Amino acid sequence: MKNQKNIPKVMQTLEKHFNFSERTTLNRMRRKPDPFKILISCLLSLRTQDKNTEIASERLFAVSDTPQGIIKIPMRKLEKLIFKSGHYRKKARTLKHVSTELIKRFDGKVPQTKEELMSIKGIGPKTANIVLNFAFNQLVIPVDVHVHVIANRLGWVNAKTPEETEKQLEKVVHKKYWREINGIFVLFGKELCITISPWCSRCPVSGLCPRLGVIRSR
Ligand code: SF4
Repeated sequence: MKNQKNIPKVMQTLEKHFNFSERTTLNRMRRKPDPFKILISCLLSLRTQDKNTEIASERLFAVSDTPQGIIKIPMRKLEKLIFKSGHYRKKARTLKHVSTELIKRFDGKVPQTKEELMSIKGIGPKTANIVLNFAFNQLVIPVDVHVHVIANRLGWVNAKTPEETEKQLEKVVHKKYWREINGIFVLFGKELCITISPWCSRCPVSGLCPRLGVIRSR
């Protein structure tokens, strides 16, 4: 079952409910977009809370915010700088690898296509789309777990993977919402439409939601 007629109403309601442009580190970085910093902060944001992404990003960028600078930071020091973001050993290796690849293959610049971005180990489809959307203003939909889960619950898509969700959303969501849907749904997913057990009783769009696949709610 699909339930796509309510998309404009849901988006307008959530836009009013969440002041998303102020609320996450990556969304704030869109004001003065620096593609390399957005890429690095997105890699640091994986599997951690936003406040940790912000602290780790600030500490790192105070030392270096270029690929040339990051490859020169000794590994131990890099791990310490980004410690707050969690999984710091793996993330430090990823930052070194990504920086090296950018220098070797892309003249030290962040590429502007999904294929090129994803050709670098450590950059997945969500990170690639965040960079294209937030840094280069391209019309793409970054789909993380929140966007995937919420779009399925609302009945906008019927998809098993974030990649399928991205393809289906592109067909049903008006382009004017593509830039904002990630920012809004990330906050919505963290505060109300929580993956394990959503707060349907507090949800501003509960009257528009068929709650597909929701087994337990509050
Ligand atoms: S009603 Fe529940 S499942 Fe539907 S969007 Fe709101 S919180 Fe999520």
